[in-house]
Amino acid sequence: MISLPDRDKLPQGSYSQIGTVLQRRDSYGDGQSLLLFLRDFGPHWVSAPASKTKCRFGGAIEPLIWAEFNLYQSPTRFYLQSAEVKEDFISLRCSARKLKAALKFYKRLSKSLLVGHESNNILTLLWSSMILLKENCPVDIVEYRFTWRLLKETGLAPSLQLCVKCGSRLDAEARWTNDGLICSTCSESEKNLITSENLKSIRVAALVSHEKFIEWSKSEQKPALYKEELKRLVTFFTDWD
Ligand SMILES: [Zn+2]
Repeated sequence: MISLPDRDKLPQGSYSQIGTVLQRRDSYGDGQSLLLFLRDFGPHWVSAPASKTKCRFGGAIEPLIWAEFNLYQSPTRFYLQSAEVKEDFISLRCSARKLKAALKFYKRLSKSLLVGHESNNILTLLWSSMILLKENCPVDIVEYRFTWRLLKETGLAPSLQLCVKCGSRLDAEARWTNDGLICSTCSESEKNLITSENLKSIRVAALVSHEKFIEWSKSEQKPALYKEELKRLVTFFTDWD
């Protein structure tokens, strides 16, 4: 973790860092402003100066691109000097479903990350989720996994192992409440039940390692379950309305 003297300004000098373009804005004929999500530095707004002849950065400043960005922090501005594309995720653009999921991840992170805060775990989560889409894992399950793990990183994820009321292990079926999952002893109604088999599935989807997920998810057939679970999960974001 690198400590920054100012929340969103680095000491003057050159930097070279791997990252991705979270957002891009045209800034009045002056080129573009990019929200780069950089390893060790977290998200930063960077200017990408325009060139009169051609776009000097080519495809490297498209959203979803991962590149090594060469940057310079002057006393007043943080700007992009050059970039070398490492992964363009071009195959995701051939599937509307996958592209939409990837854009949702980027939008969610643009909304929930703090500029200037190192967030390497979340950068790794984004990279891993993009790879899962590229590997043809079922989109609904990848979206569910990304969302639970993002909530986990921000301390908001509902436990999939323990009852939110009494703390006992969830072994059999459980029930969803606004606060999280509760065990059958704590439960007074039959509403929003989740069977033990489904509970097991959503646990695996969220918790298993990246490599195991690739193998497991391809034989998992319950798109409706993950769609429904995703709807519940998004209510745990504090900025959700
Ligand atoms: Zn309980």
